[in-house]
Amino acid sequence: SGIGKTFTLPAQSLFGEAKRVAAVVDVSFRIPHGRTFGLVGESGSGKSTIAKMLLKLEAPTEGDLRVEGQPIFRQSPAEELAYRRKVQAVFQDPYGSLSPRMRADRIVSEPLRAHGMPRREAEARAPDLLRIVGLPPEAALKYPHEFSGGQRQRLAIARALSVDPQLLVLDEPVSALDVSVRAQVLALLRDMQQRLGLTYLFIGHDLAVVRYLSDIVGVMYFGRVVEVGPARQVLRQPFHPYTRRLVALASGDAPLGAVRMQGELPSPLNPPSGCLFRTRCTYADTTCIDQRPEMRDAGSEHMVACHHYEAVVAGTKAETGPQL
Ligand code: SF4
Ligand code: MG
Repeated sequence: SGIGKTFTLPAQSLFGEAKRVAAVVDVSFRIPHGRTFGLVGESGSGKSTIAKMLLKLEAPTEGDLRVEGQPIFRQSPAEELAYRRKVQAVFQDPYGSLSPRMRADRIVSEPLRAHGMPRREAEARAPDLLRIVGLPPEAALKYPHEFSGGQRQRLAIARALSVDPQLLVLDEPVSALDVSVRAQVLALLRDMQQRLGLTYLFIGHDLAVVRYLSDIVGVMYFGRVVEVGPARQVLRQPFHPYTRRLVALASGDAPLGAVRMQGELPSPLNPPSGCLFRTRCTYADTTCIDQRPEMRDAGSEHMVACHHYEAVVAGTKAETGPQL
């Protein structure tokens, strides 16, 4: 019943108000049940926009977003209620998303109450939910400020799990945590996935973190997915020049967010013709100016949108410098 085994978000578009700025265009992907789809890209690439639309926190101004073939912005109130229960989220800032005056037992049981369970019954589930995320039962009586950052993120995870979601959207869930705590929360997420068969959309900019959790990785550039495939392939032997640059930058010590990629993102008001990456791509040529590359099957469920990826990977494509 419900959403079923895969999530697809085909052909939806989001346009800014007056200027018809494409923020996310024709993005489509599939998340196998019980697996993690990692979405990477620089900030401003549209990753969080996808998360917000999936959660119906933001609506497309044009087009629709389909999950399992159903347009989620044309649901009846009953369909919407069922959908909101199936798709839960954990965000970057656990403190901002937890009400400071609510006790932990109320926080983690809040979605159950929102979906009609009486308060006492909902709060009786709290100790179990806390245990699943590795918090002791007495944590139920505490308030958010009495928890560490990692514990608060565990609370946010417990709350998301309370309604037994089919998809958990994890938008940079460990980015705000200390490195040591980060590893614990990631291990918890991985362990929970194995025990409970959870399906994740994991949004991140740290490639090491994304690689740890993801089975499939999608790379976004300028509102489009430019490469998607098995995590190991995409993050170890990327095909798209943009992904190759991301991976090369991340192989240093600095996290991706701290490294500045050469060249500026193009202006959304004046997107380049042809390939959107050509203003920063060292392999760009006249074909890249004239034609927008479509997503092509590169084998083994690996897709890439680049005219010249074979030659780039083989090392036979001459570097021309960006075509501005
Ligand atoms: Fe785009 Fe051309 Fe560079 Fe491929 S080689 S990423 S098509 S600019
Ligand atoms: Mg973001």
